Amino acid sequence: MRLILMGPPGAGKGTQATFVAQHYSIPAISTGDIFRANVSEGTPLGKEAQRYMDAGEYVPDDVTNKMVRNRIDEPDAEGGFLLDGYPRTVAQVEELDGMIAHTGHRLDAAIVLTVDEEEIVQRLLQRAQTDGRADDTEEVIRRRQEVYAEQTAPLIETYRERGILREVDGLGEVEEITRRIFAALDDLPES
Ligand code: ADP
Repeated sequence: MRLILMGPPGAGKGTQATFVAQHYSIPAISTGDIFRANVSEGTPLGKEAQRYMDAGEYVPDDVTNKMVRNRIDEPDAEGGFLLDGYPRTVAQVEELDGMIAHTGHRLDAAIVLTVDEEEIVQRLLQRAQTDGRADDTEEVIRRRQEVYAEQTAPLIETYRERGILREVDGLGEVEEITRRIFAALDDLPES
């Protein structure tokens, strides 16, 4: 099972990614989490990524693509994976297509969590108070929404045209949203 999970910053991708990946026994791979881990460990990748993240901008494609390529080459991703937060640009879509085609598989579905922008800005401001993520200031949150609208939202149409898009209402209780995702994927094989 090869899945991607899309949606604007604050849509709840990370939370849902964990449940969905568990259900299909595949790893949830979050580019944001990998970047943050590298930042806190002070690796060269973290140093490179940090200035973009702090500004709410995307890390350059070549850096991100290489990181994802390495991650999905790991043995635990051989049987499938769920990507949370990747691809986010046209170049990343092409790169992912290449990576998957190379292994003789295909992308099974692109799940997109739909949410109201104002609602999620509020959610992120709330998270800023509890988690204290460096990129959760209002200015950076707004910038992340803009970058998403410009660069990532158009990719939804690409997956719609391919017939693998599954749109899921991302507003509501966490478990309810998880159920909606499973319902949207119910025609896919379990593994
Ligand atoms: P958000 O909820 O804002 O989307 P993430 O945790 O998914 O947060 O990502 C945090 C930051 O990591 C992004 O703002 C961006 O700088 C960087 N990032 C994550 N995924 C990608 C990607 N696919 N391409 C480029 N940059 C990325």
